[in-house]
Amino acid sequence: MGWEAAFDRLTEQLDPYHELLRFGRVSADVDDPDEWRAELRRQARRDKIPIRSFASRKRPDGTTHVWAGKARIGADELRSRNALVAVQREAAGRAELRGHARIVWLRAVLGEEAAGRCEGCGGRVYVARTTTPPTIDGDVFDRRCG
Ligand SMILES: [Zn+2]
Repeated sequence: MGWEAAFDRLTEQLDPYHELLRFGRVSADVDDPDEWRAELRRQARRDKIPIRSFASRKRPDGTTHVWAGKARIGADELRSRNALVAVQREAAGRAELRGHARIVWLRAVLGEEAAGRCEGCGGRVYVARTTTPPTIDGDVFDRRCG
């Protein structure tokens, strides 16, 4: 699979529970935080996955920011997450050589792959640790920013 297909797959919209399963966490702005959290907890209980969730105070516009994540991250997961962060830093550094000064990471699968965009021009970056050596690809490496 080329990097563009991987980027699209990584940034597609999922329902909140599947986003939590795939990325280890999920957040949203919702009208009914209790319902959002209860539904996630119900599905997580069914699959015996321990999760944590939080809700902010209700905003003036009536929405509440909610967040949920897997409750436990093992040592192996932590090591591979840190290794992916190192690949993301290297990719951002290479993109900066072409003038893409700020890469915003949109999505990451814990320790495996991540998709990001340049804030300046919208150029895309895709990295993966599932290959040897790690994959660093994207259209930011083909052109200068702007
Ligand atoms: Zn750029």
